[in-house]
Amino acid sequence: MTKSEHHHITILGSTGSIGCSTLDVIAQLGGRERFVVEALTGNGNIALLCQQARAVGARMAVTADESRYLELKSALTGSGIAVAAGESGLQEAAAREAEWVMAAIVGTAGLAPTLTAARRGADIALANKECLVSAGALFVEAVSQGGGRLIPVDSEHSAIFQALEEDQRHAVERIILTASGGPFRTWSRDDMAGVTAEVARAHPNWSMGLKISIGSASMFNKALEMIEAKHLFGVAPDQIEVIVHPQSIIHSMVGYTDGSVLAQLGAPDMRTAIGYALTYPERPVLNVERLDFARLARLDFEAPDEARFPALRLARTALTRGGLQGAAMNAAEETAFDAFVDGRLGFLDMADIAETVMERMIDWPAAADMNDVFAGDAAARRFALEAIGTRAAA
Ligand code: NAD
Ligand code: MG
Repeated sequence: MTKSEHHHITILGSTGSIGCSTLDVIAQLGGRERFVVEALTGNGNIALLCQQARAVGARMAVTADESRYLELKSALTGSGIAVAAGESGLQEAAAREAEWVMAAIVGTAGLAPTLTAARRGADIALANKECLVSAGALFVEAVSQGGGRLIPVDSEHSAIFQALEEDQRHAVERIILTASGGPFRTWSRDDMAGVTAEVARAHPNWSMGLKISIGSASMFNKALEMIEAKHLFGVAPDQIEVIVHPQSIIHSMVGYTDGSVLAQLGAPDMRTAIGYALTYPERPVLNVERLDFARLARLDFEAPDEARFPALRLARTALTRGGLQGAAMNAAEETAFDAFVDGRLGFLDMADIAETVMERMIDWPAAADMNDVFAGDAAARRFALEAIGTRAAA
């Protein structure tokens, strides 16, 4: 068995879009013949979590929602699958001896369990970009001190990881993140002002969870990815470019000092990036759609419009300011997203709230440890709620 063949695995967030795709990849690559699933975690969808746990013979199933503990426990009675719930249950799942952990919980809720897995030396397949946006260098350091590898799963960062020549990092001039532009790519701000979450979640190319779908519409997802890229690849803010590419075929690119640009292409299907993270540095055999270039015919590119999509400007501000600006932007955006989904905040207001909170936290120094990160995150959420309240009262 080589180090790259991960037999013992855990999926944090198995019931989500990335979690389900990860289980599909595992089934394609041999299922129970080849993998031992140590733990699966979910939240509200107990039926799916139980079905998954039984299908792969997981050793443990955890719901993040404490109020659903009994439901999960009784559904798995007699199965031999251990059961736990809440924050401590997630910690237990992350602490179990899996050598490969898929971090696919959505939002900052994924940070604490992913850190636990990283600290004990697991290889981390990172879908949860919020870990890097919020904790940045501290998260990267935790993985490297644990001794595991950090393998990107986000399609753009997987593409860059694949196009980065390990011994030529000094010759990297820029990285170019592609963005589909989302469902409102050609819309005016007036058109976007009144949209509901139902409209905003309809992504033209990718099928994803609610948070990231709406983040694609506002381009906040790309904003998070710019910060994610800085921490994953150690590039300076002015080396990170974003280009809108509506077909989502080129997943991202690396530009070198000789003028060459290396790109990774594929159908918009997360299973390719997940499979690569699972078997790296080997490439797995996957049953996913193959590109048919004659049918594709063309690939389009356009400059992003930071006036219509201010999230990109905010990310650049966070990158240049440093400090706790990434954590502030992330937590404020998450809070504003919840308010938008609940119908308490307009679509365009999300960026305003994030900017207000970033300004308010401009003097907060960079986190020295994880306590600083969690304190900054909590403060940003409180400031965001205040700003949302003020707006509602106006
Ligand atoms: P999703 O909403 O479909 O799934 C989220 C998972 O997290 C589910 O298993 C859910 O039960 C769990 N969860 C939700 N709230 C939780 C909480 N408070 N505590 C613990 N667990 C909780 O999300 P997704 O689209 O699969 O995205 C997961 C992560 O991967 C996100 O960080 C997202 O940005 C990233 N990502 C997703 C895609 C994609 O195609 N879906 C692509 C790139 C990156
Ligand atoms: Mg992405």
